[in-house]
Amino acid sequence: MRKCPECGFENRDRNKFCTHCGYVLEVSEEYAPQPKLEPIKANQISTTKSKTSGQEISAIIVIVLLFIGIAAYFLGEYIQSLL
Ligand SMILES: [Zn+2]
Repeated sequence: MRKCPECGFENRDRNKFCTHCGYVLEVSEEYAPQPKLEPIKANQISTTKSKTSGQEISAIIVIVLLFIGIAAYFLGEYIQSLL
């Protein structure tokens, strides 16, 4: 049995609301949001991780392309100086 904190009426354990005054019983209310919040947090962490890894990969690609461009420029100048 669950005693209603508002009016003291003894409700059944399955009842989410007090059958006497309609008060929301605390245990059933706290039980519901906890499993809902945890997967949302896990998804947010996984999405931020994938975003940072994507940014790292794109940064590496930009650096490699710049390096190849500079190397090609100096190689072209070296070949022209040889000719
Ligand atoms: Zn009540």
